[in-house]
Amino acid sequence: MDKEFERKCYELAYLIFPDVHETVDDLEVKYPVRRLKKDACVTRFAPSPTGFLHTGALFTTLVDKILAKQSEGIFFLRIEDTDRKREVEGSVKLFTDELKAFGLLPDEGVISETKEEGYYGPYTQSKRENIYKICAKHLIEKGLAYPCFCTPEMLQKTHEAQEKSKVIPGYYGVYAKCRNISIDESIERVKNGEKFILRFRSQGSHLRKTSFIDGARGKIEIAENDQDVVLIKADGLPTYHFAHVCDDHFMRTTHVVRGEEWIPSTPIHIELFNAMGFEVPTYIHVPLILVKEGNSKRKLSKRKDKEAAVSYFIKAGYPKDAVIEYLYTILNSDYEMWRNKNKEASRDEFTFKLNKMSSAGSLLDMMKLNDISKEIISHMSSKEVLDNVLNWAKQYDKELYELINKDYDYSLKVFGLERDNAKKIRKDIIKWEDIRENFFYFFNELFNKDINENGYNFEYNEKITKDIVKNVINAYKESYNNNHTKDEWFDNMKEQAQKLGFCTDMKLYKQNPEEYVGSTADFAKIIRVAITNRHNSPDIYSIMQLLGKKETINRFEQVILSFK
Ligand code: GLU
Repeated sequence: MDKEFERKCYELAYLIFPDVHETVDDLEVKYPVRRLKKDACVTRFAPSPTGFLHTGALFTTLVDKILAKQSEGIFFLRIEDTDRKREVEGSVKLFTDELKAFGLLPDEGVISETKEEGYYGPYTQSKRENIYKICAKHLIEKGLAYPCFCTPEMLQKTHEAQEKSKVIPGYYGVYAKCRNISIDESIERVKNGEKFILRFRSQGSHLRKTSFIDGARGKIEIAENDQDVVLIKADGLPTYHFAHVCDDHFMRTTHVVRGEEWIPSTPIHIELFNAMGFEVPTYIHVPLILVKEGNSKRKLSKRKDKEAAVSYFIKAGYPKDAVIEYLYTILNSDYEMWRNKNKEASRDEFTFKLNKMSSAGSLLDMMKLNDISKEIISHMSSKEVLDNVLNWAKQYDKELYELINKDYDYSLKVFGLERDNAKKIRKDIIKWEDIRENFFYFFNELFNKDINENGYNFEYNEKITKDIVKNVINAYKESYNNNHTKDEWFDNMKEQAQKLGFCTDMKLYKQNPEEYVGSTADFAKIIRVAITNRHNSPDIYSIMQLLGKKETINRFEQVILSFK
């Protein structure tokens, strides 16, 4: 650079930032390279506070967390709030609460709505204005940034002209009007108080290729950047591009894990890192999460899919472990094989490998998640289930919470049915939201509500008429003895069935069904509906034992009353 030009660049930089006295070198001292083990990864999650945590972001954060944990590095959270218009209040609380719900809280940075931790802060971009100014000043001094006086209307006109002539849109080449304003004129216009924004002076050409090694995808070849992107906007805040470069350098991020939609912008970022004299971090572009629509796949959409929001999984009550286990299966192609061989092992024992990450979009397979969740819940003890349910219901189903919490020991027995010490455990709970449907009949209030709202669920047909049901219930009610052992209970059921003309031998019944009122199974089904109002349930003997004599008899009487 010629000496005179260099002097003028300094003059311009000083004119624009008269109050900025620190330099990039000062920042290097203030935010030193982290003293970590060799090859330790420093990762970050950098959401914009738009009031919504996307399921794809949970996936990205998981990669961040694992990389840092596995390498004894650091995972931090930074809030990217430079687009003030999009900001939604309460976002930070939402993000930290939701990350916490999945065990993904960061080691450093924004820890909660009110707390930041670590030496590389502030971790909220709107509090880092001074750092961006120091960096922008540095680029002006080097002749690599300039003030752009174009108004939004002028830019709009250029954009329209570019669309018309079908050229690449943007601020570059002949379209970069202010790029070629002489430094003297720039100084003059700034002195005169004309409004401006700051742009990068790109040295690239889209006719040339550049390449970078993506940590997961390998070499990516792509056109160089030639856009004079905005560094500092009219509101004094940086753009994503510039903030990303300044922040990830001075927070000493080693691995930038982000969505694949950022791949096209990476040449901008690489050029900016180089212009600042900073080392370029390793980029890891994570594939999108897709959903099936008809025969094709599309992006998981905030508008169309409830599963696009992390909050859905929390509100529905998926155990955190199920969601994370599922995400692991799409994280690394060899995870499932490892899991099959290591059924009981902790996930932490699995070695995550960047090169085993898929670069194609991963399909969100809810059936698979549900299977994983059922399996995980089936391995829980009744106490674990109860505590999880209480924890969930306290926030999302107050009525259920009160009922279950009223008698902890009774609830423990309810969730212990066909679970604790059972040979075969029922796998009918996917998420805590399902508890109501599966267990309502253990709680009188919920049972009565169901009967009032839906009526009894008896399956009447030509054989099993209302009268038959009435007779069955009447007879069974009279014979019911709460002190029976299971065998005695079963013998009694058969005896009552036989008395009323039901066949107690399935083989016989199948040979001549018309000779009988029905089979013992039909008889038992009537009893089951009277007690649970469902056709499927755990074994009715145990349910009756749990409900107790009074309530069992009461339910029979309720059926009889309903016929009056
Ligand atoms: N704030 C950016 C976003 O929410 C972050 C991208 C990145 O991780 O660098 O998309």
